[in-house]
Amino acid sequence: MNDTIEVSCMHCGQRNRLMRERMGDDPRCGRCKHKLLPGEPVEATDATFADRVEASPVPVLVDFWAPWCSPCRAMGPVLEQVAQAYRGRLKVVKLNVDDNPTTARRFGIQAIPALKLFRGAKVVDAIDGAVPQRVLESRIERALGYS
Ligand SMILES: [Zn+2]
Repeated sequence: MNDTIEVSCMHCGQRNRLMRERMGDDPRCGRCKHKLLPGEPVEATDATFADRVEASPVPVLVDFWAPWCSPCRAMGPVLEQVAQAYRGRLKVVKLNVDDNPTTARRFGIQAIPALKLFRGAKVVDAIDGAVPQRVLESRIERALGYS
């Protein structure tokens, strides 16, 4: 059984090997000391989506959003809470659909906010529109098999 995973640093690109049971301990990059699994939402773009989402060692909740969308802005604090609560188990990534139309089109985003849960390159759950935090968390837990 392989108990280590590889995580590439979002800051410097260095690949770090981590013990699986240490993933909740806020691990840092061996080269630049930036956090490897931050407990806050991070941005992805068309250029970084494959690395930050599809190659992630932990499942990823992607928020497809835009700054002019007020329900999207309302989801902001909820996503921050979720990123903190699931630190080390789930990554929260925000993708601005106006700036990154290729990825938005690839996943058929018609309306925002749209939330998709990824396990590797696979979408395992999708939520359209803004939802309360407890609804989002129960969908996350069900999708990830925690409950
Ligand atoms: Zn680094």
